[in-house]
Amino acid sequence: MSDRAQGFDTLQIHGGAEPDPATGARQTPIYQSTSYVFRDADHAAALFNLQEVGFIYSRLTNPTVMALQNRMAAIEGGAGAVCCSSGHAAQIMALFPLMGPGKNIVISTRLYGGTVTQMSQTIKRFGWSATFVDTDDLDAVKGAIDDDTRAIFCESIANPGGYITDLDALAKIADEAGLPLIVDNTSATPYLCRPIEHGATLVVHSMTKYLTGNGTVTGGCVIDSGKFDWSASDKFPSLSAPEPAYHGLKFHETFGPAAFTFHSIAVGLRDLGMTLNPQAAHYTLLGIETLSLRMRKHCENAVKVAEWLENDPRVETVTYAGLKSSPYHSRMETICPRGAGGLFTFAVKGGYEACVKLVDSVELFSHVANLGDTRSLIIHSASTTHRQLTEEQQRAAGAAPEVVRLSIGIEDADDLIADLDQALAKATA
Ligand SMILES: *Cc1c(COP(=O)(O)O)cnc(C)c1O
Repeated sequence: MSDRAQGFDTLQIHGGAEPDPATGARQTPIYQSTSYVFRDADHAAALFNLQEVGFIYSRLTNPTVMALQNRMAAIEGGAGAVCCSSGHAAQIMALFPLMGPGKNIVISTRLYGGTVTQMSQTIKRFGWSATFVDTDDLDAVKGAIDDDTRAIFCESIANPGGYITDLDALAKIADEAGLPLIVDNTSATPYLCRPIEHGATLVVHSMTKYLTGNGTVTGGCVIDSGKFDWSASDKFPSLSAPEPAYHGLKFHETFGPAAFTFHSIAVGLRDLGMTLNPQAAHYTLLGIETLSLRMRKHCENAVKVAEWLENDPRVETVTYAGLKSSPYHSRMETICPRGAGGLFTFAVKGGYEACVKLVDSVELFSHVANLGDTRSLIIHSASTTHRQLTEEQQRAAGAAPEVVRLSIGIEDADDLIADLDQALAKATA
């Protein structure tokens, strides 16, 4: 085959996967094996010294998981990827090689609720901290960076508030400060947004959502652009300085653009153990094969439902960047030109009480704490996913008490509208 760049629809099916070399199996097999036989003692030693790439033990690498890693790198346009057990695991795996006690990240206030809790509370146990800023205020972002900052973190399309981040502007600030930009691309997926093309160093995913696409597994992934110079300063010793556990090997010097990925597997998965299992990798590989088809329909349906809601007198506001009325609509053209995704919120007249009645009255929508399913989903974030947050944090995250979040599926849009119509009638009666 020639080396011309393949299109997205081709990569989502063929990226990272080849017919099984042993059997010719066309679909990537589920390699349900914990360990792999060494050819001989020298082969085993070379693998353990990272002098040869191969399979040792499935906490580190597994052939099914490896195919998924390579597919994720292909569809995000990265140099390498590491998969792990959930989206939250991916966030820790992304930070792990960069951070140390006393170090901090600068992070957007507009985030998935669980990420706010993880970054404001849990990472403190590691001696890490996060400074939350409004990423539309670029001076505030610059002002929040200090000598101990090791990354800037944001979501491309922020869950759940219909917000799109100006990735190019943040990448420029990160670049000037000699820091990597980490982008959670879960809500957008690589079909709608390719953060590396906007200057991101690392992209993280909850594969639990659109990538698998049908609510069957949890999984996460970190994709590295391969473009960051980890040796340009002394800020990233895990990647640039000698690693005692590997006889003083320097990851960046030895592996170049694959340094982050090798470190994540050889140290991160080895010692943190947040491994993705091969069954979950298989489901996710299957899901990704139809990602672009599903995302087109998710976006098309979301526009129809959001336009209908916007014109309904029982609805106060709709925050969907795919609507022409959205303040973030113009950003869609540069950051995610194929669409603003399937997630948005709307405010019901009648506030908190009406929202609770609405989620109790839907019939086709499922009231669940998930998103990115083929099925349409609804949740009242303030009383569920964002419950742990203060009202101020809820508002900043786009999950105010009077707001309901929809994850629009790929059913018939007319049926979704009919369901919301009858539920709104009950909620506002
Ligand atoms: C769901 C989600 C996560 C967390 O992923 P899990 O797979 O549930 O751990 C992180 N970020 C975003 C944007 C999400 O939607």
